[in-house]
Amino acid sequence: MIEVRGLTKTFGEVAVLKGIDLTLERGSVLVIIGPSGSGKSTLLRCLNVLETPSSGTIAIGNAGIAFAGGTRVRQADVLQLRRQSGMVFQAYHLFPHMTALQNVMEGQITSLRRPKEEARERAMRLLAKVGLETRADSYPHQLSGGQQQRVGIARAMSIDPQLLLFDEPTSALDPELVREVLKVIRELAQEGRTMIVVTHEMKFAREVADRIILIDEGVIVEEGPPEQLFGSPKQERTRQFLSRIM
Ligand code: ATP
Ligand code: MG
Repeated sequence: MIEVRGLTKTFGEVAVLKGIDLTLERGSVLVIIGPSGSGKSTLLRCLNVLETPSSGTIAIGNAGIAFAGGTRVRQADVLQLRRQSGMVFQAYHLFPHMTALQNVMEGQITSLRRPKEEARERAMRLLAKVGLETRADSYPHQLSGGQQQRVGIARAMSIDPQLLLFDEPTSALDPELVREVLKVIRELAQEGRTMIVVTHEMKFAREVADRIILIDEGVIVEEGPPEQLFGSPKQERTRQFLSRIM
């Protein structure tokens, strides 16, 4: 289970997250929507501790940290918490000098200290899962955007995280490549993976989400099952946002 309480993040004088509370059951899919600049990426980056939250607590499985402005957190706790989630970025972020296979092996070797052979086997299985078993030896520049993103998904799963985080995984892709990536994410949801997905693909959101939250200006404006949030939103701000994007 994932539990976030009172999470805040301030950059300089600017409060970007202003007290986020989230609870996510194992096996459920949470979709985050919201306007540009509302803090969606910052929230995911805090969950993965790529950003250090200013205050609040994050617990994922057995790992957890309480952040309190200025107090140093133990690096061991950060690494342990970070290992609980795998992140898929908007712009893939693959290592350009490594093949698809090496990209999916890397975290297993450096972060989990898995033996190379075991990492290779696991990486091959994951590449097959995302439909790229024949492209294991290709470098990122030899792959389409959709293929690179599927490598990114395989890489995120390679450390066996409890939670998968997707930050607009299709927004950098040409329209014809979006489907193949959404298909992989949909299959992961159906397998019962616990996931948080930031997306602008509302049709996909509706289909894949157990719950949706709308974030605006660093606060959760509304939260509910997709039918309710899209069908009969309670907040005026939700209605405005939906009318702008649908
Ligand atoms: P988008 O939909 O455009 O991706 P978002 O909801 O993901 O937007 P964030 O990237 O989380 O938004 O950014 C939220 C706010 O935080 C923005 O105003 C942004 O400028 C600011 N911000 C993000 N990262 C930093 C940083 N490292 N330093 C200073 N400000 C930052
Ligand atoms: Mg973003």
